[in-house]
Amino acid sequence: MTQSTLNETHNPSLKSWVQSANDGKTDFPIQNLPFASFNETTGGKGFRGGVAIGDQIVDLKAVSEAGLFDGLAKDAVDAAANEKLNTFMAMGKEAWSALRAALSGALAEGSEQQTAMEACLVAQSDVEYGNPCHIPDYTDFYASVHHATNIGALFRPDNPLLPNYKWIPIGYHGRSSSIGVSGQSFPRPKGQTKAPDAAEPSFGPCKRLDFELEMGAFVGKGNDIGESVSIEDAEDHVFGMCLFNDWSARDIQGWEYQPLGPFLAKNFASTISPWIVTMEALAPYRVAFSHPADDPQPLPYLTSDENSAKGGLDIELEVLLQTEKMRNAGEAAVSLATSNMKYSYWTIAQMMTHHTVGGCNMQAGDLMATGTMSGPDASEACAMIELTSGGKNPITLPNGETRTFLEDGDTVVVKGFCKSDQPVRIGFGECAGTVLPAK
Ligand code: CA
Repeated sequence: MTQSTLNETHNPSLKSWVQSANDGKTDFPIQNLPFASFNETTGGKGFRGGVAIGDQIVDLKAVSEAGLFDGLAKDAVDAAANEKLNTFMAMGKEAWSALRAALSGALAEGSEQQTAMEACLVAQSDVEYGNPCHIPDYTDFYASVHHATNIGALFRPDNPLLPNYKWIPIGYHGRSSSIGVSGQSFPRPKGQTKAPDAAEPSFGPCKRLDFELEMGAFVGKGNDIGESVSIEDAEDHVFGMCLFNDWSARDIQGWEYQPLGPFLAKNFASTISPWIVTMEALAPYRVAFSHPADDPQPLPYLTSDENSAKGGLDIELEVLLQTEKMRNAGEAAVSLATSNMKYSYWTIAQMMTHHTVGGCNMQAGDLMATGTMSGPDASEACAMIELTSGGKNPITLPNGETRTFLEDGDTVVVKGFCKSDQPVRIGFGECAGTVLPAK
């Protein structure tokens, strides 16, 4: 059994002595317990591992130093106390699960450890976040058939979906150095672009800057070079998931992408949510996975009974926009689209297995993003290029502003949560990033 199974930490009736975890609205009830790297905004003690509970963070370094846990949970919290979570992530599923169980017990109503744990809490309002781990490599998949078809139709009207799409989890190797955590801002990229009617390309700031609403999966335990990870074992190697915004320069992309795919159009910034929700926390929100009966069925190395029965994930996603004008007027971000991870044409297990099938070694902290997770409906288009039909149909915002692509000062916010038919809702927090003027 590779997927996490339900245990006492998922019990819907569990409540925490941290009251803000029990209101039914927080992203971080006791059933979630996601991981981040944080530091106090003022007078910080240094970045270290933390776990969200309600509006608080459990300072894992403080828990480690207080010696509150025993056995494997102690080894795990000692590792997770570091600035980056890589060592903890590399320990594997038993260690992740042991720490989750220990934290759940210590944070539950009636815990004998309440007083000791209270000394380890830091308010989320007082902190900033760093990337939760060092990210050795980053890969971006292309797992929404709806996005692939919509984009393909814009770039290649006669041939939107290439014949390999329904057989291979398509992806490309991206750039990890420019991945930043929520709150990231970055200058509008410059580069070569060529209008269709222009004789030659020109150089300058990107005019068609876009976002892509995606999810990311972090590798935990790696695999040796030359060894592949079977679909049956795939989720033993995946630590958890985050929200992901793959900022994209469409005009640069249109000129550079053939024949080798995205390059400078995608390497200037990508933003992740600070919190990694573990695959164990996601266990109640699994759904069946299948390709439509008329489509090619996955090859045997991408097929398992478990992957078919519950390889999918029911994660509701939303992308919102706040312009500079809205921000100055004190107006909240407005929703541009909603979607769901369950629309993915490939599962996280299939992505992990396919990535390693030729012998590629994955390492703790490697990030696999899903690709723009657009759904079948037009309201579920998760990039501006889809929402505006390639810039032809501008969006009108409630304050009267219009957008075809992103303007300087725009902040894009991605949110995600799981509910399904479950009694407990867990969420991912948010992933926000802001476009600055070109340098
Ligand atoms: Ca992408």
